Amino acid sequence: ELNVQSVLKWIEKLNDKIQNNKEYLTSLDQAIGDGDHGINMARGFQEVINKTTTSQYDTVSDLTKDVAMTLMSKVGGASGPLYGTAFLKLSMSVKGKDPVDHDAFTAGVQEALNGIQQRGKANEGEKTLVDVWAPVLRFLQENSEFEPGKLEETAKVAMESTKDIIAIRGRAAYLKERSKGHLDPGSVSSFYLFQSLAEVLQ
Ligand code: ADP
Ligand code: MG
Ligand code: MG
Repeated sequence: ELNVQSVLKWIEKLNDKIQNNKEYLTSLDQAIGDGDHGINMARGFQEVINKTTTSQYDTVSDLTKDVAMTLMSKVGGASGPLYGTAFLKLSMSVKGKDPVDHDAFTAGVQEALNGIQQRGKANEGEKTLVDVWAPVLRFLQENSEFEPGKLEETAKVAMESTKDIIAIRGRAAYLKERSKGHLDPGSVSSFYLFQSLAEVLQ
């Protein structure tokens, strides 16, 4: 189950991973993009922490809505609106559901992924963060409990699978075949998101 306190911990852990891996995320984006993914995510999530640690929340929905608004307004590039949309759809989906149980969260991830795909038009297999969100959603749908260890493993395998894909969406698509052999930066940050979630659920 997720409540305001555990979602705050989730966001905090995610921010720590992003700040600690800022250079790594940036180097991944230097290989197949414009080299700002670490910078974009680090700036955005620091703003999220600044906001959420100085606010009071009664519901997971209110909290995740604030996360969404902050990401949308503070993060440039493709990733800001995409992660912002994901948190906004999650927020709308879990409204009135505190604490958020496995099934309510799964429905929220479904909505989040729908939002990401509406905005970015990416399908699975096109070397974007959809390649992490879609397998994680399937895992959640196929299990009636969170099973954090397997959840993290699913996200990790999915993230690693982006290495062999030729990009169809995002800046990496300009490289065509040359995008192969590199991890997708947004899939790595999405792995951190689900890894942090798994750590909170353990
Ligand atoms: P930008 O590409 O604008 O510089 P970032 O570097 O912050 O933005 O984010 C790049 C990541 O965003 C990519 O690695 C990919 O995972 C994700 N991404 C880019 N375009 C799309 C899209 N159309 N749909 C889904 N994800 C996308
Ligand atoms: Mg970039
Ligand atoms: Mg950019």
